[in-house]
Amino acid sequence: MIELLFLLLPVAAGYGWIMGKNSAKNQAHQLNRQITSEYSKGLKFLLDREEDQGLEHLINLLEVAADSVEHYSTLATMFRRRGELDRAIKIHELLLKHPSLSEKESATTRLELAEDYIMAGLLDSAEEHLVWLVKAGEPEALDPIITLYSQTREWEKGINMFEAHSELFSKEQHFKAIANFYCELALSNNNPQLMRKAISLNYKAIRPLYELGLTAYTSEDYVKAIYYWRELVCQFTLFAPLFIDELAHSYKQLNLTHQFHDLLNDLLDKGGVLIKIKHCQALLEQGHTKQAFDFLTDSLKRQPTIRGFSFLLQLMGNQNKNTKEVLNEIDKLVTSYIATKPDFQCQHCGFTSHTIYWNCPSCKHWETIVPSRGLDGF
Ligand SMILES: [Zn+2]
Repeated sequence: MIELLFLLLPVAAGYGWIMGKNSAKNQAHQLNRQITSEYSKGLKFLLDREEDQGLEHLINLLEVAADSVEHYSTLATMFRRRGELDRAIKIHELLLKHPSLSEKESATTRLELAEDYIMAGLLDSAEEHLVWLVKAGEPEALDPIITLYSQTREWEKGINMFEAHSELFSKEQHFKAIANFYCELALSNNNPQLMRKAISLNYKAIRPLYELGLTAYTSEDYVKAIYYWRELVCQFTLFAPLFIDELAHSYKQLNLTHQFHDLLNDLLDKGGVLIKIKHCQALLEQGHTKQAFDFLTDSLKRQPTIRGFSFLLQLMGNQNKNTKEVLNEIDKLVTSYIATKPDFQCQHCGFTSHTIYWNCPSCKHWETIVPSRGLDGF
């Protein structure tokens, strides 16, 4: 605790010098005495290890002397790290009221204060300051306010903020968040028009295309389902596991399976093992068994994957009736091994899961969870 005291030594020294210089003025003299007195009291309490009273006095000192903004900010940050949020809030609130604060210092202090409020669970107060900052054109407020609206699920507020201050938006992660706010609102209001707004953002979002495809597929509008999912799989092939079977079904319903096969062919270079397996299945459907087998074994040699190995076991089992039973048993083992592995992973924090989350439950980033790749992946 004594180390906190030294943070404020420059404050006392600075004031001693300034006040000494203007000692002719009685008013300044009086202020000087007040500061020195409060500071001495704080110092005495701290030296006597009565930390609470000591800190209270130093905080009171801020009411008369706030020129050393940086030192007080550091002190407040230390309080917040120690979980002493009431003290951090008090210092930031007092600093914010001080007329000597520059515009930049004022914005930084307000941002810090909002963070204190968020940590203390006082979300309304945090929002008030963050909205103020956004209106003042501070892009630094976007991160916390988007996180706040994600937490409180106030999609409309986030969208309104974006529409009113879109000039502040430049980061991909912020566009991703707003695209997902549109999706959330579209789903809760059953209004696909809002998803199309998400698509029109200055960023290629994944989820709106996926949701629009799913809505169309659910209502058996296979033409639209193909339209949205084809665009999605061409841009973000990594996400194919989410809808590739339904996409194949949509083509089949329209008697356009050959077009699906052509699409798979186009995706082979950038697709993972799942696209390769689907390509093999297409070759099998067309009666090209040897070609499918050669393609798969060649792919596995170049990039071994558990899913590819499992499909190879199935192929071999189907080719040879004598060994089919034993190969099926091995495949069951392999399949149960795959089931223990997470299907999705957050690219930002590493969180893993068996289901897709558009908003990572761990780091709260949007669209950072993707289907797993590598040996156990897709
Ligand atoms: Zn994450």
